[in-house]
Amino acid sequence: MSFKELKLKRDIQSAVGKAGYSEPTPIQEKAIPEIIAGRDLIACAQTGTGKTAAFALPILNRLEEIRPKKIRALVLTPTRELAIQIFDSFRKYGRYLKLRTVCVYGGAKPGAQIAALERGCDILVATPGRLQDFMNSGYIRISEVEIFVLDEADRMLDMGFIGDVRKIASHLPGERQTVMFSATMPPKIEELAGELLTDPAIVKVAQTTDPADTVNQSLVFTEKVDKKHLLGDLLKKEEVKKSIVFTRTKHGADRLVRDLGKEGVAAIAIHGDKTQGQRQNALERFRSGGVKVLVATDVASRGIDIPKITHVFNYDLPMESESYIHRIGRAGRAGESGEAVTLCCEEELELLRDIEKMMKKEIPEIETSYSVPLERKAARAARRKSGADRRHSAGRGYGSSGAAGGRNSRPGISGRRRSGRDGSPDRRPGSGTSRYGKSQYQSHSGTVSV
Ligand code: AMP
Repeated sequence: MSFKELKLKRDIQSAVGKAGYSEPTPIQEKAIPEIIAGRDLIACAQTGTGKTAAFALPILNRLEEIRPKKIRALVLTPTRELAIQIFDSFRKYGRYLKLRTVCVYGGAKPGAQIAALERGCDILVATPGRLQDFMNSGYIRISEVEIFVLDEADRMLDMGFIGDVRKIASHLPGERQTVMFSATMPPKIEELAGELLTDPAIVKVAQTTDPADTVNQSLVFTEKVDKKHLLGDLLKKEEVKKSIVFTRTKHGADRLVRDLGKEGVAAIAIHGDKTQGQRQNALERFRSGGVKVLVATDVASRGIDIPKITHVFNYDLPMESESYIHRIGRAGRAGESGEAVTLCCEEELELLRDIEKMMKKEIPEIETSYSVPLERKAARAARRKSGADRRHSAGRGYGSSGAAGGRNSRPGISGRRRSGRDGSPDRRPGSGTSRYGKSQYQSHSGTVSV
């Protein structure tokens, strides 16, 4: 399908062409016709699927004329980084239109945002806190909004913004189009959707438990104390052109930047304790290639959209399995391929197990000079955790002895096949020939080996 077939106005098609997009992504194909038709919509799509354009293009298509001082579209999004990116997207796709987009978010002085609002605003991109401040002080009225987009609804919930979303929505006119984007649909989000949307169309692309298939995943079992040295080695590899390293804590991010410095690798950190200016500055240096390693926490990384990230490294495993999907989705965006390498130490085995269980897939292991054999411990962790259900599903799937057998069966970097724990070859269905099959990770492990 082409953008022309989506019946977008010529000026928008030209802007999309200038952005370098040759065809719509699946979420764009599905969502754009529904939004153009004026229907309410729930779209389940993870970041990196082209979801911003999926709502920005049809909104621009609909609001073609300027009507100053009247906000006709409101996009509510949880973080300032996301807000800025959405704003940039509207500007990019609307470059040949005479529509005005304004972005308001916290952590920045209000003056410039107020001045921008006073110049007129057709499309407002906002985070909940600053939007409410401006509504309370009379700078913003949303009572004539025609299209309301609630972006990353599940993240709004995680960040404790659901009450704010309800309050904001109560100021919107009843007669409006509402579009909700959410990577996942937990019950609280379904409930919210029931309140805010009327007879919505539902479109879905890739389950959130399905990592972007353009990302090659791999895993190294290593000692905690060796992680920084291993990461230093990995980051020095020529093919690692631009990478994000995830840590669990802000403190950990800062410490890792220092440790990497000692390893001879320049990196910058972005996390919630940095000021907005520092975060923007770090992102800009990273974007422009001034520094090629960005160390980030999960919250800070939300909404970072930097094309051409070649590698994501999980220095710490995330506490929530779903964050793993979001993290690795930073690489291999919009059709580009990328690598995601996870460094797992003994105390993280259960977190790893949860992630693999969620994906219903194992992450293939690669061997490095810092690798340690954690398989037996992994098996023990699996046994401890799955307990009862192991008895019911013995021999089938993850959680059975397959947890150990599967890992043991992973070929190492050389493609060498190790036998199972009991010395017998692994016979789990699909092993060796699945997505994690030998040929596949021979080729991809070659790009990250040490
Ligand atoms: P998003 O999911 O909105 O964060 O978008 C992820 C990335 O995909 C952004 O860098 C967009 O510029 C890019 N993108 C969006 N739509 C397309 C498309 N149709 N073709 C290629 N890249 C796209």
